[in-house]
Amino acid sequence: MVLEAAGRPLLARQLAVRDPTAGEVLIEVAACGVCRTDLHVADGELKQGKLPLVLGHEVVGRVVAAGPGVERFRAGDRVGVPWLGATCGHCSHCLAGRENLCDSPQFTGYTRDGGYAGYMLADAGYVFALPDAYDDAHAAPLLCAGLIGYRALRFADDARSLGVYGFGAAAHLIAQLAVWQGRRVFAFTRPGDDEGQAFARSLGCAWAGDSSEAPPELLDAAVLFAPVGSLVPAALRATRKAGTVICGGIHMSEIPAFPYQILWGERVVRSVANLTRDDGEQFLALAPRVPIRTHVQTWPLGQANDALDALRAGRVQGAAVLLCP
Ligand SMILES: [Zn+2]
Ligand SMILES: [Zn+2]
Repeated sequence: MVLEAAGRPLLARQLAVRDPTAGEVLIEVAACGVCRTDLHVADGELKQGKLPLVLGHEVVGRVVAAGPGVERFRAGDRVGVPWLGATCGHCSHCLAGRENLCDSPQFTGYTRDGGYAGYMLADAGYVFALPDAYDDAHAAPLLCAGLIGYRALRFADDARSLGVYGFGAAAHLIAQLAVWQGRRVFAFTRPGDDEGQAFARSLGCAWAGDSSEAPPELLDAAVLFAPVGSLVPAALRATRKAGTVICGGIHMSEIPAFPYQILWGERVVRSVANLTRDDGEQFLALAPRVPIRTHVQTWPLGQANDALDALRAGRVQGAAVLLCP
């Protein structure tokens, strides 16, 4: 399913598949998660990608062929491909162990073709083995919603009371992990989303309400997954002194001006960018231990536009996943 221009529906196309070169694996895709980032790319809010482009960076599939020099995987191995497609290995961020901030990175389904497809190529060094406890469709959301959510949660440090704004794919996974860690989780949804709030409570959240409401107690930290800038001052107002507001998305509408007083008291606002391979290895080992259960709604690959529309309209409970026959 190919994006030929931003703002247009994806088109089904037959594309040639080439053999993997040195360090690459060719993967037959079984399932691919639909992430909000895909919407930002398809809608033209993120403009650095290639065109035409195959979206998709939560890819589960099986290795069909490995290029020269690939030792980690063989034909038949089940693998997962995340957003971080490759890094340079020698910029100051890579050398400092922050490959998520690499100055010349490659991103799956953005600067290189992703998993809304029957087959894809990936750099084997950035591909993960997957825990057996998850079938293909249920493993897919772990690869971005899960592990970038996990990176965001780590910046909450030892917060006991945690707010989560936007209860979509990432939040439904991270809330389960946070509850397991002994935190009290407060879920904020779009105003009036009773179903989403009931879903959040069913996953162990102590409270769920509208994003316009104040939580019943001040938060130690808040993670924002909704791409809505006005939630930054809302979350700051709900956060106690020294608390952190963590913006987990790649794109957000403009943050409105707010009084310094709500930042005062050593409150911190920060973003979270991409993932490191270390984040991925840690999260994929942790997920089956909790165990984190992924809730998925599936579409056949050919109906990728319907899945994107459902996500845009807020009609997905948990994570949207495309199944590739
Ligand atoms: Zn680099
Ligand atoms: Zn994503």
